[in-house]
Amino acid sequence: MNKPVVIVGAGLSGLRAASLLIANGIDCRVLEARDRIGGRILTTSIPDRPDLGKFDLGPTWFWPQYESTIANLVKELNLETFSQYTKGAMLAERSQNEAPQRYILPENSNAKSIRFIGGVQTLIDAIVATIPSGIVELDTSVKTIRQDEAGAITVEAVCTNGNKKEIPASVVILALPPRIVANNIEFSPSLSANLMNDLVNKPTWMAGQAKLVAIYDRPFWRESGLSGFVSSWVGPLQEIHDASPDTGSGALFGFFGIPAKIRQQLSEEETLKAVMDQLVRLFGPEAHKVSATLYKDWAKDFETAVEEDLDPLREFPSYGQPPKAGIWEEKIIFAGTEINSQFGGHLEGALQSAEKAFLKIKQLYKSF
Ligand SMILES: Cc1cc2nc3c(=O)[nH]c(=O)nc-3n(C[C@H](O)[C@H](O)[C@H](O)COP(=O)(O)OP(=O)(O)OC[C@H]3O[C@@H](n4cnc5c(N)ncnc54)[C@H](O)[C@@H]3O)c2cc1C
Repeated sequence: MNKPVVIVGAGLSGLRAASLLIANGIDCRVLEARDRIGGRILTTSIPDRPDLGKFDLGPTWFWPQYESTIANLVKELNLETFSQYTKGAMLAERSQNEAPQRYILPENSNAKSIRFIGGVQTLIDAIVATIPSGIVELDTSVKTIRQDEAGAITVEAVCTNGNKKEIPASVVILALPPRIVANNIEFSPSLSANLMNDLVNKPTWMAGQAKLVAIYDRPFWRESGLSGFVSSWVGPLQEIHDASPDTGSGALFGFFGIPAKIRQQLSEEETLKAVMDQLVRLFGPEAHKVSATLYKDWAKDFETAVEEDLDPLREFPSYGQPPKAGIWEEKIIFAGTEINSQFGGHLEGALQSAEKAFLKIKQLYKSF
């Protein structure tokens, strides 16, 4: 095949697929709509306080006990990890009029969650280091994928500066959320109704969520025997965890209990105030002495969420391979975490679907 494999999306799945193709001598290009790589993986520091460490605004953990693909890759890439801090009591906040209750969870009551020193972005950086420069094209949003009568494929993209690109492809790996494919990419000829229906019914994992990180000079809650883990029925944060980096500073991160549609009616200031009030309720007045806060609402990102993702999920979605693509079969290959049936939603699912897409391409290339 003399045309490259075109990968849409430079998240974990797209980058891993690119890395595998390149290692096997298969030409590829990765097109990414955002001005950064990583997709839902986003690790950041405070611009004027890098000494405080790095904080994850997307994923935080993996679970090597169950997730062998990521566990092996982390070893292969020599990445440093550490265990989630869980020592001490958790707090349960049941009502605003009642003090939060302390509970000691039995040891090993949960699977061991593992974090990356330097944040999950270190995984992305290590994968991208295996890809020659020029392969990943940022600020390039794929709008249309066309197939002519002879079966030749052209990917059309628009760059942030307004320029257009037309890229001939041997095969296209769609390494982005299925709902984003269905909503934002036009196919000519169209995908079948059955396939479209399947794509829109695979909600993008965490697309309706937001994450807040409150950063302190030290993890002061540990001094009073608290793990930092909170379960709250009051909110605005529903679930809080210790997010302290290995630098000595302290951090708590929380997921919101308020649905995206309601969150979006509040200003960021109002949201932060409500969160700080909650942290003081839970951890005492010291929680006010915050060095910095970071807030990321994923529901506002056009490259992650669509309108339907603003409604809270009522049950765990059913993920897995979409049905056969008819005329598009072997021309498009789905990757991304939502395509994996066992670990869909997790980093593990993104990696497994990338490996599967790579193996399919290898097979296709053999038959030519
Ligand atoms: C707040 C939060 C917490 C999470 N916590 C965890 C956790 O602790 N552990 C865990 O295992 N998982 C967690 N996850 C899930 C994990 O982040 C995802 O499973 C994983 O990052 C998905 O990778 P992906 O490559 O499949 O998709 P994505 O990361 O979504 O990558 C898709 C890429 O496609 C790009 N794109 C979109 N549209 C276009 C277009 N038209 N043209 C070109 N490019 C396009 C996007 O910009 C993006 O870079 C969390 C996610 C969030 C948001």
